[in-house]
Amino acid sequence: MTRVSKLSLLPLVALLSIPAAFAAETSAAAVDPERLSQSVKVLASDEFEGRAPGTAGETKTVEWLAKRFRELGLEPGGERGSWTQAVPLVRTQIGTPATMHITAQGKERALKQGSDIYVSTVRKVDRVSIKSAPMVFVGYGVTAPERQWDDYKQVDLRGKVAVYLVNDPDFYAKPGEPVANRFGGRRMTYYGRWMYKYEEAARHGALAALIVHDTEGAGYGWQTVVAPAGENYDIVVDNPNERLQLQGWLAGATANELFKSAGLDLAALSEQARRADFKPVALENVQFTANFPVTATQAESRNVLAKITGSKRPDETVMFAAHWDAYGIGPPDAQGRKIRPGANDDALGVAGVLELARVFKAGPKPERTLVFAAWTAEERGLLGSLTYAAKPLYPLEKTVANLTLDILQTAGPAKDVLLVGAGQSELEDDLARAAAAQGRVITPETLPERGLFYRADHFPFARKGVPVLLLMGISGAADLREGGREAGNRWLEGYMRCYHQACDAWDASLDFRGAAQDVELFHTMGKDLANSTRWPHWRPDSEFHAVRAK
Ligand SMILES: [Zn+2]
Repeated sequence: MTRVSKLSLLPLVALLSIPAAFAAETSAAAVDPERLSQSVKVLASDEFEGRAPGTAGETKTVEWLAKRFRELGLEPGGERGSWTQAVPLVRTQIGTPATMHITAQGKERALKQGSDIYVSTVRKVDRVSIKSAPMVFVGYGVTAPERQWDDYKQVDLRGKVAVYLVNDPDFYAKPGEPVANRFGGRRMTYYGRWMYKYEEAARHGALAALIVHDTEGAGYGWQTVVAPAGENYDIVVDNPNERLQLQGWLAGATANELFKSAGLDLAALSEQARRADFKPVALENVQFTANFPVTATQAESRNVLAKITGSKRPDETVMFAAHWDAYGIGPPDAQGRKIRPGANDDALGVAGVLELARVFKAGPKPERTLVFAAWTAEERGLLGSLTYAAKPLYPLEKTVANLTLDILQTAGPAKDVLLVGAGQSELEDDLARAAAAQGRVITPETLPERGLFYRADHFPFARKGVPVLLLMGISGAADLREGGREAGNRWLEGYMRCYHQACDAWDASLDFRGAAQDVELFHTMGKDLANSTRWPHWRPDSEFHAVRAK
């Protein structure tokens, strides 16, 4: 609507009234919404083809980012004096003809990829062939000794297909149920993540794992599940048995039907799965068959890294990061658009990292080294950041903090900032101080059931004990200066319909002022951390406290 004209009036408004939040925008060394917009416009343009790892879009993206960092006067922060770090990964694509069906009581029922079921593989094979494998329902598939919970009860999954519920055992618990709050209540724990369930299934020797999809439990709709269109990526593992032959999702309706054909009631079993004494249930007289060709290639993708070397304690680093990849080219949407350009997710985060680089370079030299990272393959399972965390270029024990930007809102300035994963580390106090300086307050994420703390590139760092902070605009509805929480929610709902879709695109009507505020928070926090000897700690009851202490 009128957002663009408001934007151009900003400097004048700021000069006249100087509200605290806008005053900084008049300075040359402050995060600039217009520059954010320009970077997003480039990265989300058709020319970059949706920035899929291993494509021409990657080459363009990596080159453009290295060029931008060089123009900003930064030093290369990658391997051997380069701008990049190699990320070897396996890319797989399911081909046709694909046969998938279940046989129940001798009767065959075809499963249609994309509507009944969605599967992919991360095995480096040329064919997936599973013939009449028995199926076992393993509830939430959680092994959590510290919470006295084991859904497996020594079941033998070898040669079988494991079927799981999404999220963790207390997600649907009613107040007073014994399981209530045992897994963080509505907040999703790591045990609720598909990544965890597939790894557990492989550890138990299963051939395949299928998770029953429900939008509330997953935190996203079926269209998000099927978006990769049979393509998958993985880091290169030494032992192929660490991976399943096939992994994926069952549509809710298909799962209900499947259980019914085995004489079982999925709803009733789901309630049983909320009890610690739940035992896996075999789907008697039901077999699963899948047969299709696979194209598997090993590719090398790249993380992009730049740095500003610290003047006093160069071996200590503060890291700012976002992911450069998006979903590339896929099947056409209703309007015939094939490129999924990932404008907010996460071209905007990368634009923020570039702005931080520019603003820090324009300011006084920091005492600690600042590292600016743009990861690859986040959408394929955090592969760029996982690779970095496994082979860090700057020692993790001397990494003061990892500050990650992944999806910022584009609906204008906000009165608050959303905090993902509250209660984890002292960086939350740093954030609160920086927000207060902008006249903003902290709002804990309103949708903790989405498990966002486990779904972005800061997480591999958390697992290694590095204190992390994630800013993510889809962790709740922002309280916008114009229109309040209601307007924030309107943006959120609209954006979620575009999440990982072609309509997550740059548009002249996007308002980058709110995103600039958020990036400015990291500037304030980073300046403070870079010029101190302070080491922010994990909260004592965080699951990552012990790792850092070591
Ligand atoms: Zn993202």
